[in-house]
Amino acid sequence: MAEPVIVWFRRDLRLSDNPALDRARRSRQPLIPVYIFAPDEETPWQPGGASRYWLHESLQVLEEGLQRLGSRLILRRGDSLAELEKLARETGAEALFWNRLYEPALRKRDRRIETAMKQRGIDVQTFPGHLINEPDTVATKQGSPFKVFTPYWKHCRQLQTTLETVGGIRTLPVAAQWPASDSMESLELVSRIKWYDGIDARWTPGFRGAESALQRFIKEAAAGYATQRDIPSRDGVSSLSPHLHFGEITPRRVIKAMADADRSRGLLSLSAPAEAFVRQLYWRDFAHYLLHHFPRTPTQPLYDKFRHFPWRKNKRLFTAWSRGQTGYPIVDAGMRELWQTGWMHNRVRMIAASFLIKDLMIHWREGAKWFWDTLVDADLANNTMGWQWVAGCGADAAPFFRIFNPVTQGERFDAGGDYVRRWVPELAQLDNRFIHKPWLASPVELEAAGIRPGRDYPDPVVDHAEARKRALAAYKRIQ
Ligand code: FAD
Repeated sequence: MAEPVIVWFRRDLRLSDNPALDRARRSRQPLIPVYIFAPDEETPWQPGGASRYWLHESLQVLEEGLQRLGSRLILRRGDSLAELEKLARETGAEALFWNRLYEPALRKRDRRIETAMKQRGIDVQTFPGHLINEPDTVATKQGSPFKVFTPYWKHCRQLQTTLETVGGIRTLPVAAQWPASDSMESLELVSRIKWYDGIDARWTPGFRGAESALQRFIKEAAAGYATQRDIPSRDGVSSLSPHLHFGEITPRRVIKAMADADRSRGLLSLSAPAEAFVRQLYWRDFAHYLLHHFPRTPTQPLYDKFRHFPWRKNKRLFTAWSRGQTGYPIVDAGMRELWQTGWMHNRVRMIAASFLIKDLMIHWREGAKWFWDTLVDADLANNTMGWQWVAGCGADAAPFFRIFNPVTQGERFDAGGDYVRRWVPELAQLDNRFIHKPWLASPVELEAAGIRPGRDYPDPVVDHAEARKRALAAYKRIQ
């Protein structure tokens, strides 16, 4: 019997279109699928609460999928290299395959592991798949990294990127003897207190859930994506972000499915809404690209002048923001959607982030940390780019002086107030004229809506017009 191959699952929790798994399967050697939870590994970006919940669920789906193929998922908790070395010793494996990830700390760790395992005589092979294009394969004519999205996107669209995906798997060569596995409980991904009911109700983690989300999007929302994607009360977006983050589905699979759907309608090239959607997947690639080329950006602004910005520390205001109690309905609705479901609509992420950074002048890093802990799609690349974009200090960012007005943003993107009414139920009966500015309603109108001012819903924690002036003055000081 040939020696086994270890397939190290990381953020590629899927069975189809998985190049490392497919390559191992084709080797016909017995295959040992492994997941290692390494909470003590050196990175300040260990998964937050919502991500751990997702990981727990997604691993269970993967394990069950492997079992259906007659295989297993070996779980380990500990240092990745130490566990892989142990596994190689225990099983006599002679090869180790994985799919590549791109965060700087993970790349460093993976290089260390690759070297150490090769020194032990193990054949290490790694594969792409997490992105459309790997960061090292894209550069300007001068060979430097792109810092602006549009030229990056135009450049990438001209690359002959193959959309070939590796197909599903029917059988797997199984190991004659299995190494010991830790139990799912021992990974301690979720606590005994079930705080995540709302998240559970909203999502179906795992590769099957990913495929269903894609099919739902193609059938029900893709055609309207370009016009509906900014309306938070509608199901106009794909909700694929946590699935993509955990590699339950690949961006290439998603693009291919969109192209196939258009082709089945007789179109020769991508329709405009599909193109608008694919563009967002390239934003995801771009975020990984930026993180790869500018590895300090999760904690440092890309542009140095922002290091001297006079951020304010204010626990009371940060708590009001994080709990959805700022008195600005669209901000509060977003923050409560996040808390209850582990996700927030992109338009509202921008409004809520802008409010923290510009109205409250609290450092974007504080907001990024909160998102990191509460988002099911918390992703170092996307989160960093998103926060630096809003703060005006990142690549291709919105200029700092463009400050979102939470009232006009609400009136524009939640014109009927449906989103606010859903997430801020205490305002549900309020007349539409005041839904985004309840402080302007008269006592009689508030009473008619069953609202006691300052008691049922807070007064605004800052005056937006004054806060705007303060932020612009602070910005002037760093010019
Ligand atoms: P769709 O509109 O259906 O888009 C499809 C996919 O494209 C998404 O799943 C995502 O992978 C990618 N995408 C879409 N918009 C963006 C974008 N602006 N930047 C990068 N990729 C994008 N996204 C995360 O995945 N993780 C994060 O931690 C994260 N943090 C953010 C923080 C801030 C302050 C902001 C403004 C945005 C952040 N985003 C983050 C980007 C975006 O909000 C989410 O990707 C999107 O809302 C996910 O919903 P969806 O899957 O329905 O997106």
